[in-house]
Amino acid sequence: MIPSTRTAWIETELESLRSQGLLANIRTVESPMDAHIVIDGRRVINLCANNYLGLANHPRLKEAAKRAIDTYGIGPGAVRTIAGTMKLHLDLERRLAEFKHAEAVISLQSGFAANLATIPALMGRGDVIFSDELNHASIIDGCRLSRATIVSFAHADVDDLRRKIAETTGYNRRLIVTDGVFSMDGDIAPLPALQALAEEHDILLMVDDAHGEGVLGKGGRGIVDHFGLHGKVDIEVGTMSKAFGVVGGMVAGPKVIIDWIRQRGRPFLFSSAATVPDVAACLEAIDLLEESDELVQRLWANAELVKHELANMGFDVGHSATPIVPVMLGEAPLAQVFSKALLEAGVFAMAIGFPTVARGKARIRVMNSAAHTPADLEQALAAFEKIGRQMGVIE
Ligand SMILES: *Cc1c(COP(=O)(O)O)cnc(C)c1O
Repeated sequence: MIPSTRTAWIETELESLRSQGLLANIRTVESPMDAHIVIDGRRVINLCANNYLGLANHPRLKEAAKRAIDTYGIGPGAVRTIAGTMKLHLDLERRLAEFKHAEAVISLQSGFAANLATIPALMGRGDVIFSDELNHASIIDGCRLSRATIVSFAHADVDDLRRKIAETTGYNRRLIVTDGVFSMDGDIAPLPALQALAEEHDILLMVDDAHGEGVLGKGGRGIVDHFGLHGKVDIEVGTMSKAFGVVGGMVAGPKVIIDWIRQRGRPFLFSSAATVPDVAACLEAIDLLEESDELVQRLWANAELVKHELANMGFDVGHSATPIVPVMLGEAPLAQVFSKALLEAGVFAMAIGFPTVARGKARIRVMNSAAHTPADLEQALAAFEKIGRQMGVIE
């Protein structure tokens, strides 16, 4: 037994989180990830997953994964620079580059790993990174690991960024980095203005499009396609853990940058590659998206319906420009009680509080998907209305 004197502080911290309504309460899911899931033996409507297109349990992705296992087995064996890289991983990179109209792509184990591979490979001591204040934790950690100076600018505020660039002199290389879609509010980065500013000052520009991949742009080709900025954004990080329904990360950009990440990206060099079924399922997801934009269309139609109906009921749904719908509730304990009541009514929608969002900005984040039927959404909306009234959130 470890003497409790060494861990007593952790007990205190956990208790403090619990009393503030901030302790992450992780549910156990006993079914595939889909429009409905089974929690505690009960089938509930799932409004929590980033499984935007319903691909996480798609028959074609499952079949592709099984076929690939028969050909290639399961594991990659080691890091790609040592055990060799499987043809499957190279196929994925080539197909992603074609899909996104990028010169080159490197695939990684996750979006988190993609940021940790990219930022420290490009930036170091004596360099400066301009980072949106609401950027994802993996961007923040990538920036910290790089040892570059970090200058954060006000959220999506191009004028503030312009001022900061003017004030920040004497550095060697410079990088502007932003989320594409901000995951807690669903707003989209002002990429065209950021691109113009980056070009004017000859600064590298990087966008992390985790929530835009498979969602924004033509048939889900992402934020660069959405704004028609092909060839103008230096680095586009993405994930296959959300709309693609699998798990994995990617970096798209000019061949020279991608080649460099293959030489210097530490999660690429020192952590094994994604597994065979992951990669095969990702390849199948690209096939599906190239064949039809039906799922992407359905996702957006569902999201518009939910956003519109919740706003009509009187909920504050923020300023999302994407399928993410935040239902703003304010204090974390209220959001937790609301979420619990929803679950009792058969709707799984998690409360999100500090540190994922600012204190006093707790919310329930409704994640729509193409897999939800109109009947699913009607049932979920009815539960929101009933509980909202009971708790005095709406009239
Ligand atoms: C979800 C997310 C990630 C992490 O992606 P994983 O593939 O789950 O590791 C990175 N960046 C942003 C902006 C995200 O929203």
